[in-house]
Amino acid sequence: MLDRINFLKDEINKHNYLYYVEENPVISDFEYDKLFKELQELEEAHPLLKTTDSPTQRLGSIGEKFAQHKHKYRLYSLDNTYNYEELEKWYEKLEAEYGKDVELVCELKIDGLAVALTYEDGIFVRGVTRGDGEVGEDITNNLKTIKAIPLKLFENANVETRGEIYMPKSSFEKLNDENLRNGEKVFANPRNAASGSIRQLDSTITAKRDLSIFIYAGIFELSTINSSARPPQPSTHYDTIMYLKKLGFRTNPNTKLCKNIKEVINYCLEWEQKRFSLDYATDGVVIKVNNLAWQEDLGFTSRAPKWATAFKFPPEEATTVVKEIELGIGKTGAVTPVAILDPVLLAGSTVSRASLHNFDEIKRLDLRINDTVLIKKAAEIIPKVIKVIDDEAHFEREAYVLPEKCPGCNARLVERSGEVNLYCENPKCPAQVRAKIEFWASKDAMDIDHVGPAIIQQLYERQMIAMPVDLYRLGMEDLMQLDLVKEKSAANIYNAIQKSKSNPLNRLLTAFSIRNIGKETAEILANEFGTLEKLQDASVPDFEEINGIGGLVAKSIYEFFHNKENLQMLRDLNELGINPAPYQTAISDKLKGKTFVLTGTLQNMSRDEASEKIREMGGKPLSAVTGNTSYLVVGKNPGSKLVKAEKLGVIILSEEEFQELLK
Ligand code: NAD
Repeated sequence: MLDRINFLKDEINKHNYLYYVEENPVISDFEYDKLFKELQELEEAHPLLKTTDSPTQRLGSIGEKFAQHKHKYRLYSLDNTYNYEELEKWYEKLEAEYGKDVELVCELKIDGLAVALTYEDGIFVRGVTRGDGEVGEDITNNLKTIKAIPLKLFENANVETRGEIYMPKSSFEKLNDENLRNGEKVFANPRNAASGSIRQLDSTITAKRDLSIFIYAGIFELSTINSSARPPQPSTHYDTIMYLKKLGFRTNPNTKLCKNIKEVINYCLEWEQKRFSLDYATDGVVIKVNNLAWQEDLGFTSRAPKWATAFKFPPEEATTVVKEIELGIGKTGAVTPVAILDPVLLAGSTVSRASLHNFDEIKRLDLRINDTVLIKKAAEIIPKVIKVIDDEAHFEREAYVLPEKCPGCNARLVERSGEVNLYCENPKCPAQVRAKIEFWASKDAMDIDHVGPAIIQQLYERQMIAMPVDLYRLGMEDLMQLDLVKEKSAANIYNAIQKSKSNPLNRLLTAFSIRNIGKETAEILANEFGTLEKLQDASVPDFEEINGIGGLVAKSIYEFFHNKENLQMLRDLNELGINPAPYQTAISDKLKGKTFVLTGTLQNMSRDEASEKIREMGGKPLSAVTGNTSYLVVGKNPGSKLVKAEKLGVIILSEEEFQELLK
């Protein structure tokens, strides 16, 4: 028992040092919190083994870069939980003490760093980091460079506020891109970037970084000049926040007063999803007792208030070991590395693969097989490897050597100038052909229901298809030979393939997987030319004349329509009954000249249907928000496009408003 306690103390102390001092954590917060909780529980069960130097009795650490300042009012940490039952139990204890329906305030837990800001008679006089809670670093000059921190309040209040300094996600990405280009330090997350930026000895560097703050607490005092100027002390936490806002502080607009625990849980559930649409990182929800007299009554443990707790969102980060680097071959022959991981639980699901993007990324990370890595998952995106965790054995492992041959066909891989990928240029490469067929059947291209990778693999391995056009040669008898395919599913597959024959031209052009031509360019081409025949007859200058088509793209299309094998495929398609009718151009011009971007899930139509409608009315559906976008249509759980659109002042439409526009 004692051994385990000592082990946990040492581990936690080590991770505290790496996290707070080196700003280079090597385990995820979730893993850290698990160690911490285990130690807390052991100490609770064996109080005699709890020592004053235990990490459960203290928090943080004080840096040594700046002058140290002793806090007048101690800053605390927060207890936390990852599950709703514990949250309910915490609430039951409050109800037992103060009666039914204790009011709580929910605030987003901003993942930045805490500071205490002191105002005397309305003037900002000092800003100090949390440090170990008792003593912090005086970073007043750096804080003065943050525009969201008022230097003078709207009233002459004497107040010490608490807030969280953070760096917006978009600025963090920009900073990392820049640092990467200049060979400077790349930050693991926005929290580290904020902390590194605010603790610069040279304030001019801090001033260049985009930092902001949300204020979430304030302690009011008597005025030093005029004691009658003391503002009425609010009696609830919620009123305190409202008053701080009135004084000119930036408070978080998503703060909510909740009447009971049910409302709190709903708030947590809602933000677990919605947080990804914010331009700042949040790792949970802070829940505080609203009544300040009760807060005082409840008091503090040695490191956290008893009147507040943090509900932490499921971890988006985890550490695990890279067992292998697998090579995937895409439809264009691009070879992309994928990390095969020791399975690990991440954001509620078990993950065993992570994206590595390209070979430059492996070099940048200096990733070697058997390295331990930190992986991260954001909404809907497959996890990616963020960094390699330093360990001595890393350098004993072999450095990654770029592959020379395609794992699918053994052809020599080639580099293309200006591109980060390696390519397999063998058009007959089985892996590449399979990827092409999979793409042909996918939602983005011919959208053939029931024909997914597993069916394609069987068809291909049994040599029933060798290229996409062969799908249209399959009969019911062929399909019924496949494993687990009975008459009904064979009919489903057959009908779906037949149905795709009448797809519009833009889908067929996308399905061709022509280099440099994605969904949107295919759309433009279909609109301009209307039929395959006209596309075949066009010259490079004809293509170049079209708005949105550059020289590279024009050359790619031209080459595609003048390649012998492709011409044979077009003839085959024609014979098999796939020759799209002239492309349906707009039926009305109500939305002419307007561009639309969609984000989130629409309730009454699919995204494809919405795009189709926009096109029918002469508008243009696009995928990325720019300053020229006319409208952003926002569905449920919108992504970061919403933040960008708000920043650029693009008109935002709800689904209902969009429907109105289509009438
Ligand atoms: P914490 O970050 O879990 O919670 C307390 C902090 O929350 C406050 O100090 C404040 O900065 C912040 N906060 C944000 N919004 C707030 C709001 N609306 N109201 C009140 N506070 C708000 O606790 P901590 O003591 O700063 O750090 C401990 C945590 O840090 C651990 O639980 C762990 O997740 C992480 N950690 C990780 C490692 C690691 O190795 N990965 C090591 C040490 C600590």
